[in-house]
Amino acid sequence: MPGPLFSPVDYDPARFDPETRRLLRATIDWFEARGKRALVADFHAKRFHADFLRFAAQEQLFATLLTPRAEAGRAADKRWDTARIAALSEILGFYGLSYWYPWQVTILGLGPVWQSGNQVARARTAAVLDEGGVCAFGLSERDHGADIYATDMVLTPDGQGGYRATGGKYYIGNGNVARVVSVFGRVEGVEGPDAYVFFTADSSHPNYHLIRNVVPQQIYVSEFRLEDYPVTADDILHTGPAAFDAALNTVNIGKFNLSFGGIGIAEHSLYEAITHAHNRVLYGNRVTDFPHVRAQFVEAYTRLLAAKLFCDRAVDYFRSANPDDRRYLLFNPVTKMKATTEAERVVTLLTDIVAAKSFEADSYLTIAATDIRGLPKLEGTVAVNMALILKFLPQYLFPQGTHADVPTRQTPDDDAFLFRQGPARGLNTITFADWREPYRTFHHIPNVAVFSEQADALTALVTAGITPDQTKDLDFAITLGDLFTLVVYGQLILEQAELTGTDTHTLDQIFATFTADFSRYATALHNKPSSTAAQQKWALSAIRKPDVDPTRFTAVWNQVAALSGTYEMKP
Ligand SMILES: Cc1cc2nc3c(=O)[nH]c(=O)nc-3n(C[C@H](O)[C@H](O)[C@H](O)COP(=O)(O)OP(=O)(O)OC[C@H]3O[C@@H](n4cnc5c(N)ncnc54)[C@H](O)[C@@H]3O)c2cc1C
Repeated sequence: MPGPLFSPVDYDPARFDPETRRLLRATIDWFEARGKRALVADFHAKRFHADFLRFAAQEQLFATLLTPRAEAGRAADKRWDTARIAALSEILGFYGLSYWYPWQVTILGLGPVWQSGNQVARARTAAVLDEGGVCAFGLSERDHGADIYATDMVLTPDGQGGYRATGGKYYIGNGNVARVVSVFGRVEGVEGPDAYVFFTADSSHPNYHLIRNVVPQQIYVSEFRLEDYPVTADDILHTGPAAFDAALNTVNIGKFNLSFGGIGIAEHSLYEAITHAHNRVLYGNRVTDFPHVRAQFVEAYTRLLAAKLFCDRAVDYFRSANPDDRRYLLFNPVTKMKATTEAERVVTLLTDIVAAKSFEADSYLTIAATDIRGLPKLEGTVAVNMALILKFLPQYLFPQGTHADVPTRQTPDDDAFLFRQGPARGLNTITFADWREPYRTFHHIPNVAVFSEQADALTALVTAGITPDQTKDLDFAITLGDLFTLVVYGQLILEQAELTGTDTHTLDQIFATFTADFSRYATALHNKPSSTAAQQKWALSAIRKPDVDPTRFTAVWNQVAALSGTYEMKP
């Protein structure tokens, strides 16, 4: 029976329809047939992934998985289905960020198009996907970073109802090959949000100047310039404040996949690390006989399973979202910020264990150690996502709302709501159900009980008051956000555990890790320059030692040890 981790050996997700299963399997088979030698050699040679794009084109991989039903015509398997998009993101991450990234930026490039009512642009984009083309998302500019309000991509009216666009974009993935580049800019002479425009450009147009790849990697993260680029009504996707909403809503859709990419990277790393360490004998003993190595493996494994449980459950909230249930707007930045950071932690733990092996030319871990660093930083840094998460703190911790239970969503539906999310504002009107409910369900598990005490203590901290200066001080607020995020993370993990029957030992071990994390963040809050005497007292009182149970630890360790030798990429 397949275990909780993705494995190319036995992957056949029964939850999907036959064509989805075929496509996912074909992708795995393509990577395995090409083999590990080619994978690592191409990575180190920084060879562009043109062969992967050819494979994807031939299989209609992106066209099938990324065309919403409204543009699907008679193709029965095309739909925008977050569950299978997440599944492919995990698989591509498993083989490396170099393959996940062109898929991811295609998703981002499609965001403004599928949110647009421009039928010409929509049909053209669907045709590009059918031809095996990819897309790009042209938001960032060299001088403006996260400040997307500031754009120097300027559209000047051409006097015939269209525009000429001139300006540069920076850090734009697929900008070397994309036939649909969704570009954010502003109309000259118009003030404020009314000036914003999202339009499409084609990288093969003579007025589109590709300047260079700004990263020294296999992926192509372009700097490009438009010079007098003609923009007609057929190219305009959004204007005014709607263009800005389209940018944010696109990132909402796209950044979800970073966590699945990170989970895939961490899974492949775990197979390689356990197989190496468990079979390596030093001083007459296995490396995995060292108690600290076992502890690191168990921590890596439980953090990885926790990230999977959370992200799989977040898919359900994403797919069930509607104008009256926008809870995904909290779970999404948690997915992005927390799960990618956790995946990075997992890879760091594993590379600490295997040490020199994670520097070798033929190790996947060498690739993973480089790739994993990007995920927490891209599409909003940890700080940017944390600022967003904190907006939900009051209404989440002190819920006023009720919501029907969100079921597991694995049905072959088109997630059309994601393309009509509406204005990005109004976050403070989003209501939550009682987060304590799943904690109560699992209160019999010792570390869930310990962690619940800490979560309750957090509500006491907030009730006692955060000073107005502390609210504005992001350095303080991020630590508060770390504490808060753990509670949200735990809620969805427990919900998913109930839905999937996760074993008690694993859950207990996961919450042992979270209890220790909470204690660490509480200590950090204690040490913040602005913490008050009362908050310092609170912090010390919130520290808990996780419940210790050698039987449980050994049971989880045995799950990790059993992974040794179960998967090795074909040479
Ligand atoms: C490999 C790669 C691929 C990329 N692909 C694309 C792409 O395809 N399309 C695209 O449009 N962009 C892309 N980007 C750009 C990416 O999203 C940028 O990282 C982003 O624009 C932020 O800019 P910056 O990293 O320069 O950080 P800056 O915005 O300069 O931020 C600097 C620091 O300030 C903090 N900060 C900024 N704003 C806030 C805030 N509001 N609250 C709290 N802290 C804040 C940040 O946390 C950060 O630590 C890519 C970048 C890379 C490296």
